[in-house]
Amino acid sequence: MSRFLHTKFSSLTPYDTSGEVESMKGYIRLNTNESPFPPSPKAIAYSHEASQGLNYYSDPDCSKLAAKIAEMNGIKPSQIVFGNGSDEILSFIFMGLCENGAAFPNITYSFYKILADFHGVNFVAVPLKNFRVDPSYYRDMRKRTIFIANPNAPTGIAMSLNDIESVITSNPESLVVIDEAYVDFGASSAVSLIPKYDNLIITRTFSKSRSMAGARLGWCMTNEGIAQDIRSIKNTITPYNINAMTQAAGLGSLEDEEYTRKNIEMIRKVRDNTRTRLQEMGFTVLDSSANFLFAKHESMSGEKIFSTLKKNRIMIRHFSNPPSISDFNRITIGTAEEMQIFLEVVKGATEHETK
Ligand code: PMP
Repeated sequence: MSRFLHTKFSSLTPYDTSGEVESMKGYIRLNTNESPFPPSPKAIAYSHEASQGLNYYSDPDCSKLAAKIAEMNGIKPSQIVFGNGSDEILSFIFMGLCENGAAFPNITYSFYKILADFHGVNFVAVPLKNFRVDPSYYRDMRKRTIFIANPNAPTGIAMSLNDIESVITSNPESLVVIDEAYVDFGASSAVSLIPKYDNLIITRTFSKSRSMAGARLGWCMTNEGIAQDIRSIKNTITPYNINAMTQAAGLGSLEDEEYTRKNIEMIRKVRDNTRTRLQEMGFTVLDSSANFLFAKHESMSGEKIFSTLKKNRIMIRHFSNPPSISDFNRITIGTAEEMQIFLEVVKGATEHETK
């Protein structure tokens, strides 16, 4: 820390991105829930074309993207705001729409806590019930902004639309944010509830099912009033937050739904097959509706499985906190070939293991 840093930032706890970048060349990357498939050829072509115009600032409203997403979801473009990844949208919400605090599950996307701490938002961490988000635990949230990932991460478990609606209706004074980063892999979107409730925000991303994690593109859908609030925050601090190549790539992806649909289908098939194989090897595997599995072995510790795989140049995600999930690992679904290699290494490691 230099002597110039504001003292309020003296004890930041940034998101742990270790081992997620260049140094992972040559590894099978099953640790960050990216897609193993490249972006749609149309996304690549559009983005290449857009690179010719990089001398101009990008469109601050992402008008073409907004029009397309509005059409696809039966809402107006004015109900949509884009972020540099959905992380940025989440950051805008923690920054400006959490005056009465926040609430989110005690086991969920770790960024919520990091953002809450950074923006000075007090929060309650609501326990899961048998690894599930239970709507009855969200009865009296006292105006706190509620964040729920559906499907949840790292569990992969989805919530029904009825359960989501029950959280919204029992908290009319709260804003409810449904983070649908992984929704395309098997959960029901709450987008149909937007016209019904004035306290709902849905966040989405191009990082997972659309194979564009490196492009950094996410968005939210809500009513016009809330969208305007989020847009004002964005336009105050980062009006050109989405670069022109990313906007073009996003449009290309949206114009190539068949490509995304096929990839999702493949990932779901490989996921379900991987789950069965892991269960045969003595793993407990939660019921995933996402592009990853959350699994623990009956006799080998989570840490040991993680380190054995790492030695074999396969990265998965191990969580040492909270201790209740330290025997679990989160495994992103890669290609069928990658998962075959993964399963062989796991089989060799766990075969003769007793705790
Ligand atoms: N929500 C959840 C639940 C996630 O796991 C992630 C990815 N780490 C994000 C949001 C953010 O994704 P991105 O910023 O790439 O859109």
